[in-house]
Amino acid sequence: MTKRTGDGVDKTLRNLFHKKETPKSAFVLLLLIYALSAVLTTMSSRIRGQVVLFDIPFEYSSLTGVFSLLSNTCAICLVMLFHKVGYITAMILVCSSFPMMFINVFIRQNYRNIPGFFNGLMVIVAITIIFLGNRKIVDYQNSLRKQAVTDRLTGLPNRLACSELMDDLIRRNVRFALVSADINNFKSINDTMGHDTGNLVLQAIAGRWKSLADSDATGTNEFVARITGDEFMFIINDYQTEAEVEDTIRIFKSELEKKITIDDCDYYMTACFGYSLCPEDTDVLENIFTFTDAALHEAKKSGSGSMVLRFTPDVLNSERDLEIERKIRKALTDGNIFYNLQPQYDMEHRLIGFEALARMKDHDGTLISPTEFIPVAEKTGLVEQIDMHVFERAVEFMGNFVTASGQNYTMSVNVSVRHLMKNSFLDDIRRILNKYGVPPELIEIEITESIMIDSAEKALQRIEELKKMGMKIAIDDFGTGYSSLSYLTNFPSDMLKIDKSFIDKMNQSEVSRQYVAMIVSIGHTLNLKVISEGVESPDQVDILKSVGCDYIQGFVWGRPLSPKEAGELVRAQTSI
Ligand code: C2E
Ligand code: MG
Ligand code: MG
Repeated sequence: MTKRTGDGVDKTLRNLFHKKETPKSAFVLLLLIYALSAVLTTMSSRIRGQVVLFDIPFEYSSLTGVFSLLSNTCAICLVMLFHKVGYITAMILVCSSFPMMFINVFIRQNYRNIPGFFNGLMVIVAITIIFLGNRKIVDYQNSLRKQAVTDRLTGLPNRLACSELMDDLIRRNVRFALVSADINNFKSINDTMGHDTGNLVLQAIAGRWKSLADSDATGTNEFVARITGDEFMFIINDYQTEAEVEDTIRIFKSELEKKITIDDCDYYMTACFGYSLCPEDTDVLENIFTFTDAALHEAKKSGSGSMVLRFTPDVLNSERDLEIERKIRKALTDGNIFYNLQPQYDMEHRLIGFEALARMKDHDGTLISPTEFIPVAEKTGLVEQIDMHVFERAVEFMGNFVTASGQNYTMSVNVSVRHLMKNSFLDDIRRILNKYGVPPELIEIEITESIMIDSAEKALQRIEELKKMGMKIAIDDFGTGYSSLSYLTNFPSDMLKIDKSFIDKMNQSEVSRQYVAMIVSIGHTLNLKVISEGVESPDQVDILKSVGCDYIQGFVWGRPLSPKEAGELVRAQTSI
């Protein structure tokens, strides 16, 4: 760490290992006070007469003790605050008055100086005791501080040191890269050769990387730390371009890949590296760690042995996706996937049915939005289980409440195209409908417009089979997917669901209102019913009535309800 901008890094490390130093100005101030009080001590001891302070007459000589006490205090403060330097300075200051006092007492036989002489001796004893006691405490504090920022196994700085250094670099506006390195298959060395050998390998790697960082071989400035187990971090600064950062990482990578021999056995190590740049990627300390870790995990996921990857926001998404995926799997096994039913009404505010909406509870009971977990479930194939669970429960609800009520309420269920295309889809649906004795005519399958367009060809046949069974089809989030009229004409749907984003803008501009009116009229021309989603205010209801919309679903008339609440709503309608 003694290269080009080594001074900055070294200073930070010094600060890490040692307590913050008292400013030099305090040293100068103490010297000045000492010198002044020493002069005043001498003067006051020689001047005869009185001084009046606060109406009280004082002999000048009686102030001698006060000034002498002040100079003693300065000497003690010097030792306390500046340790060795302070002690030597205080000793020089105190001892410098001894020759004069010696001459006065023993040659000029001026015995008035004897108390000053003994005072000086006592100060020397006092500051020596303080210095020796203080040194023990300082040494102990330094060793504690050193332990706190050092990794015991390798002697390298640890994560705390890393974050202190980065904090300092950020404050000084120095750009840097944080690199995280994870040794591949390290666990297998521990498992097959034992932990002692594993430790020796880690020490060998640490030694190599430390020597490399201390040399001038890379052209950049590096700081190496061990974080945990087989994970190391580098802070690289003093670079002009990102290519230089990558070059440095590759030099570290090849240094690692050289043979390591322990107890006559050769080991060939590789590692994955992830990095992020400050301030280009972020200048928030915690985010730098998160981004770098995310890049490292992505690099590890690639499975190509050793890999160097820079952070991109996509990487973070996939990290979050992984977390959500884990949560979905857990929720599926713990029975934390459930459903709500949002009522749908005609324009006279009469209930016509419900939309079943999936809900997911995290392990701590908090809800995770479907807008977050459904896209991940779609990517990972878990959506089939969610769809099927919601479908079965919603059909069960129909069997329990709706068919018994004699009303022809419709149950709309969201189905992802991925699920729709599964061979077992139709059989599963038939089985569930039979199980609860619910006629297919009461079920409406919602398929999102944008997804539908991408997979139209393949899905069309499946949808026609659903239609043949008697089910209804709704195109969800209509207006967001740029579907063409010819596509709509050929598509065997029964309902258009106007997306909330259009309803939101309706009371803001005439153009948006016209747009909604146009969708309604296209729907009617094609013989489809039209429902507006996300209707929140009575004004919007009025506009929708005026443009001839058929149905409404939104907070204005009903939020998503628990099955129990929805059952009560059905019962209340039946008893009207
Ligand atoms: P969606 O199918 O378009 O469902 C309508 C969404 O709009 C629901 O959000 C509903 O709670 C919300 N909403 C309805 N009225 C209002 C309103 O007046 N104001 C506001 N602010 N929001 C309103 P939710 O439940 O968060 O679901 C989001 C999306 O997740 C759904 O959009 C659907 O695409 C998907 N989803 C939900 N459940 C399932 C499921 O079981 N399977 C599949 N594949 N997707 C589902
Ligand atoms: Mg829907
Ligand atoms: Mg929708």
